[in-house]
Amino acid sequence: MKIMPNRMDRGFELYQDEFEKKALKVLRSGWYVLGKEVSSFEEEFAAYTGAKYCVGLASGLDALWIAVKILGIGPGDEVIVQGNTYIASVMGITINGAAPVFVEPDEFYNIDASRIEEKITPRTKAIMVVHLYGQSSNMVPIAALAEKHGLFLIEDCAQSHGADFHGKMTGTFGDIGCFSFYPSKNLGAFGDAGAIVTDNKQIADDIRVFRNYGSEKRYYNRVVGANSRLDELQAGLLRVRLRHLDELNREKERLCRKYLEHLDRNRFILPQIRDGATSVWHQFVIRSSRRDELIEYLNAHGIGTIIHYPIPPHLSEAYRYLGMKEGSLPVTERYAREVLSIPLYNGMTEEEQDYVIEHMNRF
Ligand SMILES: *Cc1c(COP(=O)(O)O)cnc(C)c1O
Repeated sequence: MKIMPNRMDRGFELYQDEFEKKALKVLRSGWYVLGKEVSSFEEEFAAYTGAKYCVGLASGLDALWIAVKILGIGPGDEVIVQGNTYIASVMGITINGAAPVFVEPDEFYNIDASRIEEKITPRTKAIMVVHLYGQSSNMVPIAALAEKHGLFLIEDCAQSHGADFHGKMTGTFGDIGCFSFYPSKNLGAFGDAGAIVTDNKQIADDIRVFRNYGSEKRYYNRVVGANSRLDELQAGLLRVRLRHLDELNREKERLCRKYLEHLDRNRFILPQIRDGATSVWHQFVIRSSRRDELIEYLNAHGIGTIIHYPIPPHLSEAYRYLGMKEGSLPVTERYAREVLSIPLYNGMTEEEQDYVIEHMNRF
């Protein structure tokens, strides 16, 4: 059997009729950028998260860097972020000329709240939390720290659409929640797309202007902005998927419960869920000290896997200029050597999952 780590075609097939109807409707409408689909999606996604406002953007990275920019963070400023994130979180900071200050993750792969305060300096302007692999970070102590030190709180929710902490949705704890709708995310478009959510009207208005060349009225430009508009086709298709997001997340939850029940805990470190947090299981990430052998073994049996992520941002070539050496973030670096995401996707069959479990447990 051949099993891919992810299958976006399956998620399409689940609601194929609805997606195709919507795509045709948008194509025939004659209106393709920033229209009714975008404004309806913004309303519906704000309502889904419980935030007051949502602004559609062109990607998750745009959501991150524009959030940092709109908060006035730039050269000379520091932003705290976890070491083991996808590099886009860090780029959201450094594109603005600000410096990332890395904090080690906890056993849930999110920022270790107990290690944040020691990194706060007079230059610190914000904490950026990343709800990695679908699970909410430890938001109560983190929000309290941000409040105590007068820091902005930015949430990278690219992997956590629908995950909550004590019933409050990720993306609504801080000043700005940043979402990606890249096709492989839990709420995926059919191309690039992103958004921010916020309760702050000024922030929402400023980002709405910024995304469209800084223009409030056509050809009247208030600030030097960007072109980061969400298009009608993606917004329309996102509205279709959003209607099904809870059932899609429940399906992944069911698949992951089965992995948790059947994978051999003596061989692998399995994911854990923090008290009070939920996960929407963007990935099912296990750890093994023999990770690279495991990849080979599974590959030989037709099972594909992905490492999220093999090189932590502080050791990537792009961030060599930060001058951080190997060994500077030992937990982050150990996770990079040991983590492995095994196949998980909406529409995964019982047969496929049983095959993965059988071969994992034979390793
Ligand atoms: C996918 C992702 C992003 C970037 O989103 P794009 O839409 O691909 O730009 C940012 N942060 C995290 C944690 C992600 O997983």
